[in-house]
Amino acid sequence: MSMKEYIEEAEQALLHTYNRYQIVLDKGEGVYLYDMDGKKYLDFCAGIAVFALGYGNEEYNNALKNQIDKLIHTSNYYYNVPTIEAAKKLKAASGMDRIFFTNSGAEAIEGAIKAARKYAYLKDGHTDHEIIAMNHSFHGRTMGALSVTGNPKYREAFEPMIGNIKFADLNDFDSVLANVTDKTCAIIMETVQGEGGMLPATEEFLKSVRALCDEKDILLILDEIQCGVGRTGYMYAWQKYGVKPDIMTTAKALGCGVPVGAFLMTEHVGQNSLVAGDHGTTYGGNPLAGAAVEKVLDLFEKDHIIEHVREVAPYLEQRLDELAAKYDCITERRGAGLMQGLVFNRPVAEVINKALEKGLILINAGANIVRFVPPLIITKEHVDEMITILDDCIWS
Ligand SMILES: *Cc1c(COP(=O)(O)O)cnc(C)c1O
Repeated sequence: MSMKEYIEEAEQALLHTYNRYQIVLDKGEGVYLYDMDGKKYLDFCAGIAVFALGYGNEEYNNALKNQIDKLIHTSNYYYNVPTIEAAKKLKAASGMDRIFFTNSGAEAIEGAIKAARKYAYLKDGHTDHEIIAMNHSFHGRTMGALSVTGNPKYREAFEPMIGNIKFADLNDFDSVLANVTDKTCAIIMETVQGEGGMLPATEEFLKSVRALCDEKDILLILDEIQCGVGRTGYMYAWQKYGVKPDIMTTAKALGCGVPVGAFLMTEHVGQNSLVAGDHGTTYGGNPLAGAAVEKVLDLFEKDHIIEHVREVAPYLEQRLDELAAKYDCITERRGAGLMQGLVFNRPVAEVINKALEKGLILINAGANIVRFVPPLIITKEHVDEMITILDDCIWS
């Protein structure tokens, strides 16, 4: 069947929850993807900040193949070695103490919310605790995650959400303070907002919120699902400022394509929240996912991925700044590390479609922002190649 015929079949069978780009991707190699017709694309999306190590990494692929032949799934009633190794390495990389593996980012958020509510419940026996979340945040599409997502457009048709959620503005500490009550059990935010605008939390804001949480025994939940796992030049973005969360979520690049996420917590929260029977998952942290996480963390160390991000990210910033200076329609560049956005004064769909035609894969973050979340192994030459194509797709 032709690419066009496959797309028609897809439109007959799949629920229309996405306006997909009109290509069928077939294989990947390094930072390039190929569609069914063999057309080559430079990939600055990485499956939405997932494929950090690039496509076809031999060591990663072999680790998965070996694990598939050995054991794919056991359930969480039993231990398995890859997941134990993965947990040990993730603890070391994150500085957190206790891990619960999930299958996705949204599930990690669900677990984080449950842990925070249980922590507060054990303190005072009440069941009316509040969570403060941020406007323009994105935490996922399940009901709990949606409830803390600060974008009414995503929520409206699905009301009622889970209760007692309040919204403040990122980097506006007064707006957080104004929402704090005796019932506040947690404050949740992305360390760098992704979907909502590629906007980093400032050091001052993070430190103020951390101090507030310490003073009032409120749990700080940092969502590192998109900005974590090396993307900002730190294993987790909060490590830049040393503002440690009580609970942290991670997913996307954690398994580099094998669906896996996790919520992690400090020993103190671990000892005072979820216990046997409180939470569970059939697949979460199965041996295949464990093998993926273990190998990803291995390769991050062996291939010095973080150091590489620190070297190439300033160059990406510089080249994007040049574009922003050249075109009036680009009002701002923002982001951290290899998580960048160009803010336009108009919708960017046309720019992204043009880029795709010319063999460059980009995505948006909201209607007016072009998002850059490439595989972390990109080089300065790849950045130049991307800029050359993108420059051709923008008109003022
Ligand atoms: C993608 C994302 C999620 C949701 O993860 P899924 O795996 O799609 O459920 C949550 N938070 C942030 C910051 C994300 O970028």
